[in-house]
Amino acid sequence: MGRHALLSASSSHRWLACPPSARLCENYEDTGSEYAQQGTDAHSLCEHKLKLSLGMETEDPTEELSFYDEEMEECACGYAEYVLSLVEEAKKICKDPVVLIEQRLDFSRYVEEGFGTGDCVIIADGTLYIIDYKHGKGVEVSAEGNPQMMLYALGALELFDGIYDIDAVRMAIYQPRRENVSVYAMAKDDLLQWAEGELSEKAKLAYAGEGEFCAGEHCKFCKAKAVCRKRAEYNLELAKYDFEMPATLEDDEMPLRIP
Ligand code: SF4
Repeated sequence: MGRHALLSASSSHRWLACPPSARLCENYEDTGSEYAQQGTDAHSLCEHKLKLSLGMETEDPTEELSFYDEEMEECACGYAEYVLSLVEEAKKICKDPVVLIEQRLDFSRYVEEGFGTGDCVIIADGTLYIIDYKHGKGVEVSAEGNPQMMLYALGALELFDGIYDIDAVRMAIYQPRRENVSVYAMAKDDLLQWAEGELSEKAKLAYAGEGEFCAGEHCKFCKAKAVCRKRAEYNLELAKYDFEMPATLEDDEMPLRIP
């Protein structure tokens, strides 16, 4: 992907929770990190392994990867196997499911200039599968109510709803280094209801740089976190709570009694 969208799918957890963070982040450089590079390497290898398994043309990227190791190899092979199992599942309901790898997904109908890249999308009659590979092991990621996955699903519906008769979306996160495979299914109608309501509303605010600043767990991935006043206030509140004194004095704090 050549450039990042202001309102990208991967940052949607943050800008949905704190809409003005999107414009604020524009002022700060993405410094990148070893972890990010590791993730990019793992994604390249996953793409290659999956294409190999599906008999598609591909070039082995291993030589170019800075962080390639045995663990990454196993993770990528496991991912390819997992996706193949879903393709087989899809074949039970549809003779010729379509498999898209590293597909650009445009959800700008609901989010101004919004797009992202889906690791893998499988389209079969009745069901759309969205699969995302996570190489990180810091935080276990759930597919349930995950806005990144829901945005990818909206992008995929733009491409295929109408051609295929889709009424449900299955979203899967494959996170091998946490031994986590999280799957969540939702009805297409529920997804569209969210898109036309909460999503569109928050996206409009975020695009305009408006709305309330709101600090929380999502600040971890915000480029403005070091200078954000709201976050500083939030941290101060948390610290106050940590150091809250008990209402009564401890023994060693008792005033000395002079007989
Ligand atoms: S640090 Fe948190 S509160 Fe501040 S702009 Fe970023 S997401 Fe919003």
